[in-house]
Amino acid sequence: MQILLISDIHANLVALETVLKHAPPHERVWCLGDVIGYGPHPNECVGKIIALDALCLPGNHDWAVLGKLDVADFVPDAQEAIYWTRRVLKEENRAYLDTLTERVPTQFDRYTLVHASPRQPIWEYVHNKSIARANMDHFDTPVCFVGHTHVPIVYRARERRRATDEALPIGKPFALEPGKMIVNPGSVGQPRDGDPRASYALLDSDANTLTLYRVAYDINATQEAMDAAGLPPRLINRLAFGV
Ligand code: ZN
Repeated sequence: MQILLISDIHANLVALETVLKHAPPHERVWCLGDVIGYGPHPNECVGKIIALDALCLPGNHDWAVLGKLDVADFVPDAQEAIYWTRRVLKEENRAYLDTLTERVPTQFDRYTLVHASPRQPIWEYVHNKSIARANMDHFDTPVCFVGHTHVPIVYRARERRRATDEALPIGKPFALEPGKMIVNPGSVGQPRDGDPRASYALLDSDANTLTLYRVAYDINATQEAMDAAGLPPRLINRLAFGV
């Protein structure tokens, strides 16, 4: 089966629509959370996820908007965006996000899905090899897909309790075996690896490969909508730099 793997849309509808148009044919959509927060189109993005019948997990921003996390734990710009999102989010979309659970059943006996880390599904950032290694004992499948850091990467467990990291090649199938690994498809709506293009991946569950894609979207259009919504300038500016 071909599965579109997306994460961290962050209410960036222009990026999401661009990804959906660019993506190769697929039968399912898996979304690793943070559909909202930061961006100007939370209702439209949640509506799209519902319409796609995606398998979707909650992220820390989704939970903060719902009041399930303390907003004080976020940096001031993020807090401002969370309060703005709370004001505009429609009840039906709030209710949908409230149904999402941070641990979904294992898919194809092979893939674990969480937003942040297998150890702490909502909050922990897997952004280095030692954190990745510590998390390898917290899932039973060969592969765990995570989002949250907005950086596409693969961490692979090695002998003697080490982990290595490697980049996902763009547009070329990456074999999800052998070994145990934590894999991040990057962020659709707010990439942070220095490349401002939207990031997503296509999982081929038969071949057990993942192909990463980057696609340019109309960043200006999202920035203008953020400006019109009165969202913090730093959040608007960072989109152009992918940080
Ligand atoms: Zn995020």
